[in-house]
Amino acid sequence: AILEQALRRAIDNNEIQPHFQPIISLQDGSLLGFEALARWIDADLGFVSPAKFIPLAEERGIIAPLTEVLLLQSAKTAADWPDDLFLSFNLSSTQLIDPNTAQAILETIRRAGLPARRLEIEVTETAMMCDPETAAKIIEELHDAGVRISMDDFGTGQSSLGRLRELKLDKVKIDRAFIMAIGEDKPAEHIVRAILEMCAGLNLTVVAEGIEEVDQAESLKHFGCQAGQGFLFGKPQNATKTAGYIREFRRIAKSDREV
Ligand code: C2E
Ligand code: MG
Ligand code: MG
Repeated sequence: AILEQALRRAIDNNEIQPHFQPIISLQDGSLLGFEALARWIDADLGFVSPAKFIPLAEERGIIAPLTEVLLLQSAKTAADWPDDLFLSFNLSSTQLIDPNTAQAILETIRRAGLPARRLEIEVTETAMMCDPETAAKIIEELHDAGVRISMDDFGTGQSSLGRLRELKLDKVKIDRAFIMAIGEDKPAEHIVRAILEMCAGLNLTVVAEGIEEVDQAESLKHFGCQAGQGFLFGKPQNATKTAGYIREFRRIAKSDREV
């Protein structure tokens, strides 16, 4: 109850801020975009993980206003990035049962000045389960407006491979659990390669999550994985630091080209 009160206060006072983690092309090393991740540091409670406060916000029916401020903030930030960088934003499970979600998202990014083609929405398999029909409609509405959709944490949830075919998806993000095990655990490696092969056939781009080691990035590149995200490339950082990261990334890429 203390946590819930603090959370309500934090939402009202705009104390929950998006941070941004880079997503990199494993094939040519270019910067593709960023995933927004919610960060909350409470004056009394200290750092509270989104893995804790997002489910609480869902349970207490306050996820919609929280998402609204986070998406507005994130989209405003992303609108100032170079035009070729995308913003990836996590949608929570309770929003996938609300038929107004797609319109609300489109309205928010319009207010922020971010074109739909620069937005990606991350959904999870588990979130799809509650009301698959409404979820499919929301996804279709967003897709038709030009927003790309990615399946987050792939391989860990209530996987239904059939859904990959039915839904208007663009991307699959392979869960960190599999990436961590690459190089140590042959079964994990086989699963990653099978996902990559399947996604290639289905015309889905694959992002590997939680890359921490150069060897993991090298293996994934070799397996044909298009993109990667993880502490190796950068931790989530606030908007100001992210702008600096983009400048520095471009400067290094430019000097590389000049060599
Ligand atoms: P997610 O969407 O799968 O996000 C990836 C998580 O992995 C993030 O944790 C990120 O900080 C962490 N991560 C990234 N690279 C590495 C790495 O190399 N090593 C390790 N150990 N971890 C890495 P985070 O920020 O704690 O978020 C946890 C989950 O909370 C997210 O998982 C997402 O499901 C949820 N979440 C975060 N922000 C939001 C939000 O704004 N809205 C909603 N609905 N959910 C959110
Ligand atoms: Mg995510
Ligand atoms: Mg994930």
